[in-house]
Amino acid sequence: MKIVMLGAPGAGKGTQAKMIVEKYGIPQISTGDIFRANIKNGTELGKKAKTYMDQGALVPDELVVDLVVDRLSQDDCKNGYVLDGFPRTIPQAEALTAALAAQGEKLDYAIDVEVPDENIVNRMSGRRACVNCGGTYHIVFNPTKVEGICDACGGKLILRDDDKPETVQHRLSVYHAQTQPLIDYYKAEGILKAVDGTKNMADVFADITAILGE
Ligand code: ADP
Ligand code: ADP
Ligand code: ZN
Repeated sequence: MKIVMLGAPGAGKGTQAKMIVEKYGIPQISTGDIFRANIKNGTELGKKAKTYMDQGALVPDELVVDLVVDRLSQDDCKNGYVLDGFPRTIPQAEALTAALAAQGEKLDYAIDVEVPDENIVNRMSGRRACVNCGGTYHIVFNPTKVEGICDACGGKLILRDDDKPETVQHRLSVYHAQTQPLIDYYKAEGILKAVDGTKNMADVFADITAILGE
């Protein structure tokens, strides 16, 4: 099963992707997580990506596409995957379609998690990320057992720099200009499925499993 998660920043793509991983046993591939790991490890790619990420801009397509295509060729992707945060532009989507077609493959589902802009700033300002494992929480909607400490690994939780309201507004406008057109792209491919992302996490996931099957 090959799945792409679509939706605004903060719509809940990562949260739902993690639940898909648990239930369906396919890996989550998050380009944001890959970039943040590279920044943490001080790699050249991390240094390049950081300048864009800090401004809430997209990392250029040429720094993203090969990275993802290479990741998808690894063994754990044999039975499928859930892509979270990629593609984010039409050229990225076209490159993905072409890379899959070269292997005689195609995506099965593009799941659009729909959340209006009004809800996004709240979602983001309450999001907390673990510096150690990348786990994601929300101070109101998905709190940790101990404030500021990751349930999964005991790591420290932070508010990502790019989740501050000034940057979120910019990320939203980038989303509308560059990523939202993917909805029509995947509609035309006949694989688009929309879910109401304003429901609680469990109910959104129930709607997703109704699409993917038990
Ligand atoms: P969110 O989950 O809030 O949407 P991500 O973790 O997916 O955020 O992405 C954080 C940042 O990483 C983006 O704002 C962008 O700068 C960069 N990024 C992640 N994925 C991509 C991509 N596919 N193309 C370009 N930039 C990306
Ligand atoms: P994305 O990957 O699309 O950027 P996340 O999955 O990181 O989004 O979710 C953004 C924030 O909103 C996180 O703090 C997360 O805990 C919270 N969240 C995710 N889904 C929901 C939901 N259905 N209702 C309320 N809060 C949610
Ligand atoms: Zn953690």
